[in-house]
Amino acid sequence: MKFAERIMQIKPSPTLEITAIANALKAKGVDVIGFGSGEPDFDTPEHIKNAAIRAIADGKTKYTEVGGIIELKKAIVAKFQRDNNLEYKTSEVIVNSGGKHSFYQLMQVLLDPADEVIIPAPYWVSYPPMVSLADGNPVIVDTDEKNGFKMTPKSLAAAITSKTRAIVLCSPSNPTGSIYTPEELLALADVVKNREDILFISDDMYETITYTGKPFVNMAMLSPELKNRTVVLNGCSKAYAMTGWRIGYMAASEALIKKIDILQSQSTSNPTSISQYAAVEALNGDQSVIGTMVEAFARRREIIVKGLNSAPGVSCLYPDGAFYAYPNVSGINNLPGWKKAQEKYSTSQHFSSKITAYLMEEARVAVVPGIAFGTDEHVRLSFATSDAHIIEGVKRIKEATEKLA
Ligand code: PLP
Repeated sequence: MKFAERIMQIKPSPTLEITAIANALKAKGVDVIGFGSGEPDFDTPEHIKNAAIRAIADGKTKYTEVGGIIELKKAIVAKFQRDNNLEYKTSEVIVNSGGKHSFYQLMQVLLDPADEVIIPAPYWVSYPPMVSLADGNPVIVDTDEKNGFKMTPKSLAAAITSKTRAIVLCSPSNPTGSIYTPEELLALADVVKNREDILFISDDMYETITYTGKPFVNMAMLSPELKNRTVVLNGCSKAYAMTGWRIGYMAASEALIKKIDILQSQSTSNPTSISQYAAVEALNGDQSVIGTMVEAFARRREIIVKGLNSAPGVSCLYPDGAFYAYPNVSGINNLPGWKKAQEKYSTSQHFSSKITAYLMEEARVAVVPGIAFGTDEHVRLSFATSDAHIIEGVKRIKEATEKLA
């Protein structure tokens, strides 16, 4: 069968693929520890589940307004006011079927063929394909690990062209956990101060998961001018352990939100009605559930980073936010046993894929190769898994790398 060129260019999401491989091995009885999946291991809090059950019982199971029920839009507006001191009207927000869907639709309404979107690497795996699916060109800007993986004004300036339409900022970052300071954001904004046609896309999906004790800041919060040229993307998936419910949302100008509403009306229609009622409760209800999860992530962060740094050839920075460790594994290249060990993985094109294959086989540990995020010297491990798994997983990684030392 002939398929469209569009889909032939796109590879499946590597993080979901690694999770599928690990699950398939587990189903065969192999004891694999999965660090692939980017979702909290906690159950959705009880009061949120109960709101969904109530919605079903009350028959709130029909089509809703395309862009979300008014109660949820109001809850989103209130969240922006409460947490970010940002004022939006309900006509300036829209609810989508997960944050991925938010970004996908944003690309569809913003880009014409060959328009460019600047994406700092390491990046969330889905940004470049979603730009490509809208016929745009992802422009990848490399960052320096020594600089905490943050894009500098100089590297941003070098990437801007007449075709640039948007700049993606993900802070806290998936996969590095790095967080931009207000000063760093302002310096980036300064680079494009005369290019009002360029939008910032602030992906705040990990807003609530930080370890620095400093207040969260995004580009829109820095000035009214910057708010006007920033699209803020957020959702319930990570903050409230609601990955399966598929609720994401965006705030932007009314004109842009209207276009997304039109696209949504002709594609998915409304996000699931029941999930929307659950999201109202998530945003308006008890926020202490977030702190409980972040406390656990903070403890696990300590265990995983310390453990990884004790493995030969591995060096790992402390992430400032999100729930991923992104260790540099290039030191494994210098271990005496690696030259021989890697021969087995000659079909893998990339160093980080070879390391992933080695760890899967030798340590029965599933990690995601850094090449999926745009850097080949790293692998990503999600620490949104139990303390016991993390302790056992890093022990296995240590043993597998010690075999090479
Ligand atoms: N943005 C980032 C940086 C993410 O890591 C994810 C999920 O992994 C999303 C957005 C989308 O989240 P979802 O579609 O599950 O709501």
